[in-house]
Amino acid sequence: MTQRFQSYIDGQWVAGSTAAQDENPSDLATPVGDYASLDAAQVRDAIAAAAASQRSWSLSTPQQRADALDFVGSEILARKEELGRLLAMEEGKTLPESIGEAARAGQIFKFFAGEALRIPGEKLASTRPGVEVEITREPVGVVGIIAPWNFPLAIPAWKIAPALAYGNSVVFKPAEIVPGCAWALAEILSRAGLPAGAFNLVIGSGRVVGQALVEDPRVNALTFTGSVRTGNALLQQAAARGLKIQLEMGGKNPLVVLADADLEKAVEIAVNGAYFSTGQRCTASSRLIVQAPVYEEFIARARKRLASLKVGHALTSGIDIGPVASAEQLATDLSYLDIARQEGAELLCGGEQLELDTRGHYLSPALVAALPEHRIAREEVFGPVAAVLRADDYEHALALANDTEFGLCAGIATTSLKYATHFKRHAEVGMVMVNLPTAGVDPHVPFGGRKASSYGPREQGRYAVEFYTTVKTAYTSA
Ligand code: NAD
Repeated sequence: MTQRFQSYIDGQWVAGSTAAQDENPSDLATPVGDYASLDAAQVRDAIAAAAASQRSWSLSTPQQRADALDFVGSEILARKEELGRLLAMEEGKTLPESIGEAARAGQIFKFFAGEALRIPGEKLASTRPGVEVEITREPVGVVGIIAPWNFPLAIPAWKIAPALAYGNSVVFKPAEIVPGCAWALAEILSRAGLPAGAFNLVIGSGRVVGQALVEDPRVNALTFTGSVRTGNALLQQAAARGLKIQLEMGGKNPLVVLADADLEKAVEIAVNGAYFSTGQRCTASSRLIVQAPVYEEFIARARKRLASLKVGHALTSGIDIGPVASAEQLATDLSYLDIARQEGAELLCGGEQLELDTRGHYLSPALVAALPEHRIAREEVFGPVAAVLRADDYEHALALANDTEFGLCAGIATTSLKYATHFKRHAEVGMVMVNLPTAGVDPHVPFGGRKASSYGPREQGRYAVEFYTTVKTAYTSA
């Protein structure tokens, strides 16, 4: 019997109207469970519950909030293997990657448990005699959260935890294909001592459930992670009604490999950044920009390394890459490989659908030699697919790295302090890596990008306070 993943509204588990299957991309014959989509009226119930509980939760003490978040973090950490297994089955990341993500989610809750006790403020002398000025931070109110499928525990954690830490109530909408992880998080939150309505889970489609969140005037702030297309549509609607919004969207992240790099290390960084987690990371190194003197050698070594990677069922030990998360994403990956061929790019290796013991969305990691104008080198694919470009020298490589509408993350592999320093300053991105994969970040520092990749304040670390609070300036005369 499969499990049914329900929504959670005003402290109650709620069934939706329609049933849909929660697929296991490693084994289509064995679904993870099923879930029901909510309708717009049910989402409005969740928003009403969040609005009703807002005042009491915003008046809770920092210690109460810290205790609730610490409870959630501790339980996630204690159950990271079990939660990681659910994540691996549902999203298709390898089991070690999935357990690592579960642990990260636990750490994020614990980090914000601490932040709940450290809500910053300032007190200044006024420019007028006998007057004092205080600057305090207050909750924004009801926060709507719309999340993607590729980090189904960590991304919800880095939105839910700060929202609650700073005294907001939450209505959380997960992506359609990962209701199980969302349900597991909600189940833990349901036992954390929050007042009914402070946290609500609304499972369902973007068109119905997501839209109901962006349209409702009782939602005071909306945080979204997902595609540029959806993010931009939400931004228009948010602007029309003056809704505070934060968007984290796509990337086409460059990794520059200079001729002076330690090539073995550079290949490892490239392969990790481009293909681990099946390339389904917004920070994936999907554009490898290699300086001409080492271009051929880099490709030869990368092909050898890619041939050694094992693609398989997410729960099988010893595999490096799990399946693509959905049939839709697999179709996108394959269509980009077709477009690349049609445009004259050269498929160097991979890009084949694999038939394994279980029927799943398996694709071998693909490396494509491309020109900067090819779509495979410009658009986000979001799969185990990377384009490799040739650069004449450092300046050319930097220009190629910045020649993109995106600006999430950029990396450089080099032994030169001069180029590393210059690249850190001149890469037009929110995050930059030297001799590290573009994917893989710390939870206690800001996360986010520039250009089409992001909109609004940064997420994570202390910087999360910007989005989840509003500033008040108070003047007092004795
Ligand atoms: P998506 O835009 O299709 O969906 C994201 C979420 O938006 C889902 O919950 C979906 O149901 C919802 N949604 C869809 N249409 C909507 C609508 N009209 N109104 C309201 N909500 C709607 O993205 P995805 O396929 O789930 O995720 C992949 C994308 O996420 C990639 O582009 C990736 O780069 C990006 N991503 C970005 C970051 C980051 O931090 N920058 C992190 C992870 C993923």
